[in-house]
Amino acid sequence: MSSNSPVPSSADSSSAASTVASPVFADRHVGPDADELARILDVIGVASLDELAQRAVPSNIADRVADSVPDGLAALPDPLSEVQTLARLRELADRNTVRRSMIGLGYYGTHTPGVIRRNVLENPAWYTAYTPYQPEISQGRLEALLNFQTMVADLTGMDVANASMLDEATAAAEAMTLMLRATKNKSRRLVVDADLFPQTRAVIETRAEPLGIEIVVAELDPALDGVGLPPGDFYGVITQIPGASGRLVDAAPLVAAAHERDAMIAVGLDLLAATLVTPPGEVGADVCFGTTQRFGVPMGFGGPHAGYLSVATALTRQLPGRLVGVSKDADGNLAYRLSLQTREQHIRREKATSNICTAQVLLAIIAAMYASYHGPDGLRAIARRTHERAGRIASGLGSAVVHGSFFDTVLAQTPGQAGKIVEAARDGGVDLRLVDADHVAVACDETTTEDDVRTVLAAFGAHGIGDGGDTAVAEIENRTSDYLTHPAFHDHRTETAMLRYLRSLSDKDIALDRSMIPLGSCTMKLNATTEMEPITWPEFADLHPFAPAADTAGIRELIGELAEWLAAITGYDRVSLQPNAGSQGEYAGLLAIRRYHLANGDAQRDICLIPASAHGTNAASAVMAGMRVVVVACRENGDVDTADLAAKIAEHGDRLAATMITYPSTHGVFEAAIDQICAAVHDAGGQVYLDGANLNALVGVARPGRFGGDVSHLNLHKTFCIPHGGGGPGVGPIGVREHLAPHLPGHPLAPELGDDLTVSAAPYGSASILPITYAYILMMGAPGLRRATLSAIASANYIARRLADHYPVLYTGDGGWVAHECILDLRELTKETGVTVDDVAKRLADYGFHAPTMSFPVAGTLMVEPTESENLAELDAFCDAMIAIRAEIDRVGAGQWPVDDNPLRGAPHTTECLVGEWDHPYTREEAVYPSGLPSSGARAKAWPTVRRIDGAFGDRNLVCSCPPIEAFAD
Ligand SMILES: *Cc1c(COP(=O)(O)O)cnc(C)c1O
Repeated sequence: MSSNSPVPSSADSSSAASTVASPVFADRHVGPDADELARILDVIGVASLDELAQRAVPSNIADRVADSVPDGLAALPDPLSEVQTLARLRELADRNTVRRSMIGLGYYGTHTPGVIRRNVLENPAWYTAYTPYQPEISQGRLEALLNFQTMVADLTGMDVANASMLDEATAAAEAMTLMLRATKNKSRRLVVDADLFPQTRAVIETRAEPLGIEIVVAELDPALDGVGLPPGDFYGVITQIPGASGRLVDAAPLVAAAHERDAMIAVGLDLLAATLVTPPGEVGADVCFGTTQRFGVPMGFGGPHAGYLSVATALTRQLPGRLVGVSKDADGNLAYRLSLQTREQHIRREKATSNICTAQVLLAIIAAMYASYHGPDGLRAIARRTHERAGRIASGLGSAVVHGSFFDTVLAQTPGQAGKIVEAARDGGVDLRLVDADHVAVACDETTTEDDVRTVLAAFGAHGIGDGGDTAVAEIENRTSDYLTHPAFHDHRTETAMLRYLRSLSDKDIALDRSMIPLGSCTMKLNATTEMEPITWPEFADLHPFAPAADTAGIRELIGELAEWLAAITGYDRVSLQPNAGSQGEYAGLLAIRRYHLANGDAQRDICLIPASAHGTNAASAVMAGMRVVVVACRENGDVDTADLAAKIAEHGDRLAATMITYPSTHGVFEAAIDQICAAVHDAGGQVYLDGANLNALVGVARPGRFGGDVSHLNLHKTFCIPHGGGGPGVGPIGVREHLAPHLPGHPLAPELGDDLTVSAAPYGSASILPITYAYILMMGAPGLRRATLSAIASANYIARRLADHYPVLYTGDGGWVAHECILDLRELTKETGVTVDDVAKRLADYGFHAPTMSFPVAGTLMVEPTESENLAELDAFCDAMIAIRAEIDRVGAGQWPVDDNPLRGAPHTTECLVGEWDHPYTREEAVYPSGLPSSGARAKAWPTVRRIDGAFGDRNLVCSCPPIEAFAD
């Protein structure tokens, strides 16, 4: 590269310096090379990325840059190569000590079947997919998620399950609000069983407080009068089977007693135990919740794993999150899609059932495949073996055992000896749970061996406990109903069958391994293999979140460094990594604001100003944090209407709590007035929540913590390379300025964080995927990160320029620039020709592309975000497809094709369109090979496997578990 190359100079010199070495990682991560970038910059009319930064980013917020290193990023380490980065991660991994964990509390050892680990968890066809909003090119993961829903519904004995929740504790909190919405009982008291996992209780308590729900903790026990329910009114009960103490009770008397008191009841249920015991759904429970972690998903120091929530039919429409359903396509064939999408926060905003958006799709798929691989009898065998091991431990401990009825966890009374016993076991390589000075709990799982049982008993025996007193181990198997009877749980029991099933499903989907996914607001960029590799290393994957700190030094060091780097990048003082999605970050950030006002004696500050253009999670999170949402208008050009903002600030006076503002705006524009907006809110005593989901336009360019934000969440699954997983996992850390730091999330089992305001089940949320972001930042370094941002902005502007003559670009900032994404306005075209955004989105699948974001934030538009990772050929192929589609629209407009029978309305087209009758006014070739045959040099085509899906039909005829095989025959 020459020194007048358009690429920032230090990236230049580092690759030039190493003449023989491989390119620096940034050259692998950023799609356009120097020549391509030069052409992109030429089209958009700037000479260099630095000039683009000067022109597109408002000077009032831009960081100063010296030698390609922006001010804020000076603290980042120099970039390392891929090899060096893996060596650094290996060093950190080696600082962790993996012992056999028998701690329990919702996290258990499990064997991820190799065929699932390699072909799902480590396979980009699965992990780089997007949320299945374009169902015609997502049938594979939709089927896998339907299996997940069927598995959960069957095992819990409930009618309907969603796919999925963020973890067990947040699922319990969602059960709390779901029951409140559904009940006719006027009380706002909720009874919570004292035997819940402590983290579940902490999350429930945190969520309850701003909503004015009063929590009453009670020891529930079927042996007690009225099962121990307290006097007075309450609208719901939350219990857990088995309890944190391992105690296993019948659900039936608890359910009956709750209903007797006119309360609904939600039961936290261990799914492995459910293979043996009568599930709560069969005895009338209203809701079940829990985790599917022990179904093949490594503990990963706390996450990610899929939580679950299942309900009786009457509550289906109250279910938060995503629900996969069955419908039919234009040819009448069975097809899957997301049901009842209008319930999602995107549309319902402050009236949403929940703020959950990104869920845990990848992990839900792993759990479902684990159930398919083992089948009902295999799961039952695992459960029996687990119970048998626990039984052997209980027999050995004799009269020290506290509860004779248990599934996997034995609680032992060990007066004064608990600490020593836990130490002795630890010396033998096993971690037990120290309950208190007099009690130890031992949790068995799929991985518990005979040796482990001996080690545990020896640890107790050495302290004179377990010397033969009697304990009667109760017979617990009383489940009589069948489960997992669908062929999905019987047909893939050999490795060959499973391998082919996984391949056949992923072949139906378009993920980043086949095409760019130009989804505005979602930042579908490269998820590099080097970033992904460490997450399945046992030293990260097999850590229990509550393992002794001394055994987790490596991951803790990684978390600490990463938090510092993110603080530097965002300009904030402190960062919490606990929130496990953007939505949870929003909620945690708003809680911090709430606590700050309360601490200042400003309890009345409860108004949250949110621009009309905001992401739907913003309003939903504000409601969860106990705030009242007031919408601020946007101007014609998409910017926040500063006059309306001023009026609303004046109107609400000292009730103003916060404003939530996305930057760059959800319209993809750097609003120059951002500093005035922040100042106006601050002057009125409010706090500024800067939604940082769009940080891909800011990293290395401007820092929200320095241009007016008090708190932001970032989405590591957007800007920082954690793959989208088909709709999760995610990490939504928050950065705060110093005055909010005392109100960051805590955890009852992580003393270093304090024990207040718990928002996730695990202290560090989805810790096991943090090495991805760590590796990305380490490999890019400061100049690489800035280059990525500016390349993303350049590519977005390139697309805007190339398409401007064909589709109007809705919003631009001063000087006509967009930020990292652009909105194409189809409303006029739709009015003139009848062709809709839907038609264009589906038609893109025929061209081999995933559609951009549809109708967000403006109905009737497409929002395109190319990211920095796509090279010029892919950008051009996308633009060419969009331009060709425009020509097709014109033919409809000119009357050459009828509006209800043309390649757009008929899209997408499948291989079946190639045979049989054809009575359309366009040819089969036009239908399936719109850009020409591959042999003529056209881009490789990915075939959709179903035609346009009828959404309304699916919502009217709601089917949310695997349909019987006959349904496919029709
Ligand atoms: C993606 C996004 C969110 C929500 O993040 P999740 O991880 O899906 O919960 C919030 N705000 C904006 C602007 C987003 O783009």
